[in-house]
Amino acid sequence: MTTCWVPGADGSPYGVQTLPYGAFRRGGGGERRLGVRIADFVLDLRGAEDADLILAGGALCEPTLNAFLALGRAQWTTVRRRIVELLTETEHRSTVEPLLIPLSEVDLVLPFAVGDYVDFYSSEQHASNVGQIFRPGQPLLTPNWRHLPIGYHGRAGTVVVSGTPIVRPSGQRRSSDGPVFGPSRRLDIEAEVGFVVGVPTALGDPVPTDRFADHVFGVTLVNDWSARDIQAWEYQPLGPFLGKSFATSVGPWVVPLEALDHAWVPAPAQDPPVLDYLRESSRRGLDLSIVVEWNGTRVSEPPFAGMYWTPAQQLAHLTVNGASLRAGDLYASGTVSGERRDQVGSFLELTWGGTEPIKLDDGSERTFLEDGDTVVITATAPGPAGTTIGFGEVTGTVVSTLPNR
Ligand code: CA
Repeated sequence: MTTCWVPGADGSPYGVQTLPYGAFRRGGGGERRLGVRIADFVLDLRGAEDADLILAGGALCEPTLNAFLALGRAQWTTVRRRIVELLTETEHRSTVEPLLIPLSEVDLVLPFAVGDYVDFYSSEQHASNVGQIFRPGQPLLTPNWRHLPIGYHGRAGTVVVSGTPIVRPSGQRRSSDGPVFGPSRRLDIEAEVGFVVGVPTALGDPVPTDRFADHVFGVTLVNDWSARDIQAWEYQPLGPFLGKSFATSVGPWVVPLEALDHAWVPAPAQDPPVLDYLRESSRRGLDLSIVVEWNGTRVSEPPFAGMYWTPAQQLAHLTVNGASLRAGDLYASGTVSGERRDQVGSFLELTWGGTEPIKLDDGSERTFLEDGDTVVITATAPGPAGTTIGFGEVTGTVVSTLPNR
């Protein structure tokens, strides 16, 4: 494995095998700058491009990743190779070292301006569990579920970076006396994996499954906060609306696809066979191991490799009608749930609709989120030569109102 001169990089999930992109501010109110994480430092990419250490046509001097995302696979690969050179060849150390800033000295901000946001529903176990909880006595899956990746368009403007406080939403919920209004009593999480689109498309130009890597830049973690009581009352017939749109948290780091070459695994076989536009020459899923912590207690470890619909199929489906892509579009996998109760990606499933409370390490019991609760979602994947790829974390704390109100 390539040796990196940055202290702590070799053997870290954030060594040169990973190099995730993000954006940061230094010292509270500083300007937004792009960076790449290496060990517990961020490499200031603007500083590197300003000094002609990396050439990206000025894209790395922008406040968001969007211009860089639009450049495409060839340039993404060239820049990544150059960053590896800068961080491994000792001749560069004296010029590059001043551009490394300890993570403890920066605030990480939303890495890209989110274009459109789509959320899928692609875990068979999750869809089956939700079917049992929300529609008892009916078939586990809706008739369309195995024929297309179900999804909906979410609210891009309320996608927030990890660490942003989550204000408990208010809305309508059902009661035995008719609908009532008030703060949600069934606030939940959804542990998901997000795909960040780079290269745009023109209206009317679908992206076939084998063009996935030409358009998707990388992967980030997503927590699709969900108010189950609002959702249950509003969702028929048009799907999720206010029960989801109040906040979606994303991780501060986007792991480029180049870092995930060793993380692809065969995806589950599909039965019945899918229509031609959803077929793949080889069906591949990503072997991400996700961990969900609730107030510091590890409550679940959802396995991403078993998702029924792959990210390539999701992209093909969301563009098959000719809908165009923009740099910065985000699509999320849907809640990741495995077979076992300790592998589910939502508390709805973990506590079976709130009927089976779980005990946290501090002795307290929970069904849904209480004010002050903090959820941290992390993930890792296999890297080259036995290394680990780290995805950072997406975290959020539930508050009743904004702190300064
Ligand atoms: Ca979701």
